[in-house]
Amino acid sequence: MILTLTMVVISLFSSHAHAEWIGDSRPMMGTEVTVYLWHDDVTEGNEAVEAVFAEVVRIDDLMSTYREDSLMSQINRDAANGPVAAGDELFNLIVRSLDMSVLTLGAFDITYDSVGQHYDFREGRRPDAATIEEELESIDYRLVTADRATRTIEFAREGVRINLGGIAKGYAVEQGVDILRAKGIQHAIVTAGGDSRLLGDRHGKPWMVGVRDPRKDGEIAVRIPLENDAISTSGDYERFFDEDGIRYHHIIEPDTGTPAGEVHSATIVGPDAVITDALSTSVFVMGVDQGLRLIATLPDYEGIVIDASGRMYYSDGLQPPAQTDP
Ligand code: ADP
Ligand code: MG
Repeated sequence: MILTLTMVVISLFSSHAHAEWIGDSRPMMGTEVTVYLWHDDVTEGNEAVEAVFAEVVRIDDLMSTYREDSLMSQINRDAANGPVAAGDELFNLIVRSLDMSVLTLGAFDITYDSVGQHYDFREGRRPDAATIEEELESIDYRLVTADRATRTIEFAREGVRINLGGIAKGYAVEQGVDILRAKGIQHAIVTAGGDSRLLGDRHGKPWMVGVRDPRKDGEIAVRIPLENDAISTSGDYERFFDEDGIRYHHIIEPDTGTPAGEVHSATIVGPDAVITDALSTSVFVMGVDQGLRLIATLPDYEGIVIDASGRMYYSDGLQPPAQTDP
């Protein structure tokens, strides 16, 4: 997903003497995190931007599986031996993830990492058939017990691993926008990789958020006007390697332990970035028919799926202009 921020900055800067767009982009959470906001005091605006980045650091420290010392890593190390205290925040996001598994009939499953941990997309490494077969038994969200009374997480067997990569960035941008709203900011966008949360409009006009063409680098497949919404795109072009004509990428089908193959990208729009993030990953796994049928049951959420031939499919509430009745 690519945002048309440059245009926004240029068009609005000249017309307001005091207020202006303030922001920055930094590599975080294994991707690029961007904060842009409208503020009439540059110092306060910059402080707000820093507060969002600090929040992303805090969330990553808590939830990253790449950090040995994160609470998340501790759960993965110990939860097969008994209940591990997860703390309110991490516990709640794990519970929301398990709820998404129920909603998506298992397409979204944070235990995907039992097999997923054996992929290394930077190094072009993937698990062999024997490893997949062995670890596949540990992919099942029902192997994770979340005890609400004690706020503990326990795994039913050795070998289970959980990873919040399909939901944590949505959580981070949602938290970021909460911080900005609490500071009285009315126009902002917070993006982490394929997940964005908008606050207000872009000062009198809707934000125009572009959905990337999954096979043409830097090109936009469609632009959607949005205000106050969240938008998430999952694509097979974010983290991948190609081998013998097959694309191995980071969205794993829980049934097979291999990358989901039916579509090239799935985009979800709705009020909550935690949900749009988890749903974009889910709809990517479910494919066009099953995915759009799920979206049709969720009144607040809409979606666009681009299949392997580049064809675009819209959910009912988001028909492209050409197909709308006059
Ligand atoms: P991005 O990370 O590009 O924003 P997604 O939101 O689709 O893309 O998240 C993909 C990530 O979700 C993967 O990198 C992995 O951490 C995690 N993941 C992969 N497959 C699944 C799955 N079936 N269910 C839940 N999480 C998954
Ligand atoms: Mg996602």
